[in-house]
Amino acid sequence: MPVHPIATVEIAADCANVRFFCCLVRQYTKAEIEAFVEVADTYNTYVASHVFTDEAVEIAVAAGVKSIEHGFLMSRETMELMRDNDVWLSVQPLLDDEDGFSFDDPVSQQKWIDVTNGTDFTYKTAKEVGVKVAFGTDILFDPALAERQGAFLAKLQRWYTPYEVLKMATSTNAELLELSGPRHPYQQGNLGVIAEGAYADLITLQLDRRPSCQTPNHASRCCPT
Ligand SMILES: [Zn+2]
Repeated sequence: MPVHPIATVEIAADCANVRFFCCLVRQYTKAEIEAFVEVADTYNTYVASHVFTDEAVEIAVAAGVKSIEHGFLMSRETMELMRDNDVWLSVQPLLDDEDGFSFDDPVSQQKWIDVTNGTDFTYKTAKEVGVKVAFGTDILFDPALAERQGAFLAKLQRWYTPYEVLKMATSTNAELLELSGPRHPYQQGNLGVIAEGAYADLITLQLDRRPSCQTPNHASRCCPT
């Protein structure tokens, strides 16, 4: 089956250049986002929104966006709205730690701190409220940081068990990808399950019984799939 190269439409609902944390203010009306959603629906897919702030998330959800990417400055009430509308939270453990960003501009630096201060609340509250949470990053163009994808996944142990972390990154993420129906690129078998003919790579490692999941980063380096 030919697959259209565009699987999902992503918009940035509250910042044109969030890599530099320069603004974090709304930039679309509800009607504009509804137009994106209508076009995506015509293409049998959905709209994901790169968005951080509470009001912008609320409007995106009301306009029909199906995945909130980041969302670190959301309130509990907005997460409840997401849950009630079956909207996903695709998020990553951004922390002001060894992988933290630093900015020359003090305004951007403060916004980065505000965002990372929201990380703990976001994960804890999303879990309590029952929002569907996926693991995803938008680390695309920085090879050194891309090497750290597995390390980012392992940081989720602050809020989840190793079992929950691995489930999120595999079968739960697969559920989110399948929102783009005939447009996602994995059409030749089942996704997110371990079964004959399915898109699953099972890597078994002989390791000490360690009480953590430090293996994903290692596995991604030594066992390309
Ligand atoms: Zn993003």
